[in-house]
Amino acid sequence: MSPHSRDHRLKVSRRSLLRGSATLGAAASIAGRFSSSTPAVAAANGAETTEIAPGIFVHRGQHALIDAENLGDIANTSFVIGKDAVAVIDTGGSARVGQVLRRAIQAITDRPIRYVINTHMHPDHVLGNAAFEADKAEFIAHHKMARGLSARAERFLSRTQEQIGDDAFEGTKIILPTRVVDTSLTIDLGGRALNLVARSTAHTDNDLTIFDTQTETLFLGDLLFSEHVPTLDGSIVGWLKLIPILRSEAAQRVVPGHGPVAMAWPDALAPLEFYWSLIARDVRTAIQDGMTLSEATATVGQSERSKWQVFDEHHVRNVTAAFAELEWE
Ligand SMILES: [Zn+2]
Repeated sequence: MSPHSRDHRLKVSRRSLLRGSATLGAAASIAGRFSSSTPAVAAANGAETTEIAPGIFVHRGQHALIDAENLGDIANTSFVIGKDAVAVIDTGGSARVGQVLRRAIQAITDRPIRYVINTHMHPDHVLGNAAFEADKAEFIAHHKMARGLSARAERFLSRTQEQIGDDAFEGTKIILPTRVVDTSLTIDLGGRALNLVARSTAHTDNDLTIFDTQTETLFLGDLLFSEHVPTLDGSIVGWLKLIPILRSEAAQRVVPGHGPVAMAWPDALAPLEFYWSLIARDVRTAIQDGMTLSEATATVGQSERSKWQVFDEHHVRNVTAAFAELEWE
């Protein structure tokens, strides 16, 4: 890598920060009642956040593959402020992204960051964890996350380094959970309980949801995608079984892993359920008709293309994964 290209990359990342400030007006206008000045403070420090309910802030990731411009800032990250402590929910795709999020938190509250919760093992959700080591936070995840993440650690790290560049990658490492959720766990932020639930295999085999009891806000991680085409690294059958279970759970609003900072519930589920139902149905038909995998990937679900962003980057792999799973039914 030449010094010239390194300079370019640094300029690009500074520009990304400035762009955060430029959209400040929109963020401030939809911000809640926690404090009218907080979104301004957050944007000035890097990560633009929106207060979606009292004491709950969400930073919206971009709909893109990880690259040297976004540095892995492609998933939504959130934090919840209680009377005694702050919980962070997902940390972004690199230590750099995690540091920007941490500065945004510190600009809004001086309460200690005691918990870092990961919704699942994917790099765009966990590789910012290192930024919170100094807080001596507890790192909490589904009991199966450590196994999945350990097995993929080397690949996740080397691929991220390639995607964002050596300088931006600095400090990025895997931090495994220090506390795990077997079925469910409640943590208390001081007058504010978060209920964590370990889900059965769907997007991955280690999906964890977080429910803020004070505002009835449900954080779904990548069990909910909006705008950004969903991706599959668990079980399409499992996901389609989990959707009605999630729908039966009451919430005032939900936070997707990719998409708007907050969405109406359960309406937010409809496009996702339609997408996976269609793929499951058409892949089953393709298998019954004796189609090959490449014939199936060329046709199945193409009617969904105009409805989703980054479709071409992920859809064929989704059909491939569904085909491999449903072939053995
Ligand atoms: Zn994911």
